[in-house]
Amino acid sequence: APETDAPVMRTTCPYCGVGCGVLARPDGAGGTSVAGDPDHPANFGRLCSKGSALGETLGLATRLLHPMARGGDGRMARVEWDTAIGQIAQAFGQTIERHGPDAVAFYLSGQLLTEDYYAANKLAKGFLGTANVDTNSRLCMASSVAGHRRAFGSDTVPGVYADLDEADLVVLVGSNAAWCHPILFRRLEAARAGRGTKLVVIDPRRTATGDEADLFLPVNPGKDTVLFAGLLAWLADHEALDHAYIDAHTSGFAQALASARAMAPDIEQIARETGIPTADLVEFYTLFTTHERAVTCYSQGVNQSAQGTDKVNAILNVHLATGRIGRPGMGPFSLTGQPNAMGGREVGGLANQLAAHMTFTPADIDRVRRFWRAPRMAAREGLKAVEMFEAVAAGRIKALWIMGTNPAVSLPQAASAARALGSLDFLVVSENVATNDTVSCRPHLVLPALAWGEKDGTVTNSERRISRQRAFLPAPGEARADWWAMAQVGRRLGFDEAFAWRSAADVFREHAALSGFENDGSRDFDLGGLASLDDAAFDLLAPVQWPVRSEGDTADKRFFANGRFFTPDRRARFVAPMAARLATEVGTDVPFILNTGRIRDQWHTMTRTGLSPRLGAHLPVPFVEIHPSDAAQLGAEDGALVALQSAHGSAVLEARLSAGQKRGALFAPIHWSNATSSNARINDLVAAVTDPVSGQPESKAMPVRAAVL
Ligand code: SF4
Repeated sequence: APETDAPVMRTTCPYCGVGCGVLARPDGAGGTSVAGDPDHPANFGRLCSKGSALGETLGLATRLLHPMARGGDGRMARVEWDTAIGQIAQAFGQTIERHGPDAVAFYLSGQLLTEDYYAANKLAKGFLGTANVDTNSRLCMASSVAGHRRAFGSDTVPGVYADLDEADLVVLVGSNAAWCHPILFRRLEAARAGRGTKLVVIDPRRTATGDEADLFLPVNPGKDTVLFAGLLAWLADHEALDHAYIDAHTSGFAQALASARAMAPDIEQIARETGIPTADLVEFYTLFTTHERAVTCYSQGVNQSAQGTDKVNAILNVHLATGRIGRPGMGPFSLTGQPNAMGGREVGGLANQLAAHMTFTPADIDRVRRFWRAPRMAAREGLKAVEMFEAVAAGRIKALWIMGTNPAVSLPQAASAARALGSLDFLVVSENVATNDTVSCRPHLVLPALAWGEKDGTVTNSERRISRQRAFLPAPGEARADWWAMAQVGRRLGFDEAFAWRSAADVFREHAALSGFENDGSRDFDLGGLASLDDAAFDLLAPVQWPVRSEGDTADKRFFANGRFFTPDRRARFVAPMAARLATEVGTDVPFILNTGRIRDQWHTMTRTGLSPRLGAHLPVPFVEIHPSDAAQLGAEDGALVALQSAHGSAVLEARLSAGQKRGALFAPIHWSNATSSNARINDLVAAVTDPVSGQPESKAMPVRAAVL
């Protein structure tokens, strides 16, 4: 624990979806010591490099401390909060009056607390009448949500982290967990040391995670569905199906199996398509067949694809077919990227969801309308992230509020997204930092948001565990909670009673009450047992997994061991994936496939991790990984500057030779931007093509050409 006498505050790490507990202790002299919380069930006291450097990132040098508005001369000048709230209420109100509710939109973030997310969804979907509320989680795990909903009828992660301790086989698909979910990976390593758990890693790129595997399968980009279709057929051919489970709890198996056989007719064909040697395929399929306690974890390598939802369902199919779901040591497991992607999902943070995992059915719309006493309930789904920015560019969306995210860096075709922002009639950005690429897009108003250490509320991690983020530092300057700013706008628009919250606890209680409202167990998400927490109990709330259907609910938190899915007939659905393909194939002009992702010691666009010299020392400059043979053909030595060009943009990056790359494949990190480097914003190159079901962009397979400068 930290070594000062000041009180220790229990809070939660603001980075990845593992959701580690943190003990923070300000030293009273501007510093804060940080340690892992030994009592938090996500990390039991451990922190990774990013989490343990949090204390180095708490300075105010880069912070936005006051509301700033653009004046008639085009310059930003400080304004009072009251003026800022009035400007938003007027701009959004007038836009809706003139152009209808769908001319306004909110773009949110998996960094927001659940209470902030809840407030945005209530304001937009219940009181402004638009479902144009989407989030950067669309870029992260929307395909998992869509896959869950197609198979289970609900967005339910069936398992818990303890399943990794109890599995005999763990399959990681499209996940560099050793770098991106490090503490969960440490947990897996401990299980391997103690139990001998086998590890299979499936990834086009051999990463630090692949290096640890018993079996590494370098799948060709976009061919995951072929690999898992082949596994489904293999399980059928080797009498490894759980017919009792299939018959009692599912539908559509026969069609899915027929489709799998057509997609993956024999092992040689699978080997040709996936690029995986036949012997390795046989070893993987045999391991899966013979190890009942199998967990398949998957992450952005699966989700960030124009066929991401089909890939998710191909994985869910093999677990449903073997009945390996919701039992100790068994199940499919989506690893979420952000600290509160799950909390956002829970309050309807996606444009195609309503609050509390409800959707746009007439019954759900009516239920939420009655609970909120909403005067102007959105009646249909809104625009998903990429569509939303296309609507901004086309002038259909005229007023936009961005909170806690930097879309001018993170969206595909980022330069186009940045240009579109500049064309809005009214753009408001809630931010911690005074400058970044999005704040450079000439917003009309920027609002100082609270940052980690100042915020108070809740987040939900990948295993559905709700933890408190607690404030241990005073709010600097005039920074305020995002939920508070939205409540002020709601009240200014005349909805005093609906937005009368005095605290994050008030928002949480309402959110919990809505989840339990008319919920007889037919909806997965239920916090009804937490709806009556008083302020003191909310303050002390220990990490808890949902559902919490009643006070003190101690039922097993796994789902679906005995079926009881959330479809109308309570049966899961097998889904037959479409033929596997990339949205855009390589050609003579663009012979390389560009994969993008995170590195170990940076987070998103580096506004926080960039403040730690220790973290910056790991991989200090923007780079592109190239196979040595490709580098030799290009004439690129380690450290050479390489120009990448796609149909949409370009970047100049330092070459890093890596035998972990496939021939013809490149990898570049997502973190650098025009604010932090010159010509290194990798999403400028990525096409804005999306999965037709989830709306998630294909961020990991962009054809590009490369040349040494
Ligand atoms: Fe934070 Fe994730 Fe590291 Fe845990 S594993 S300390 S949540 S970044």
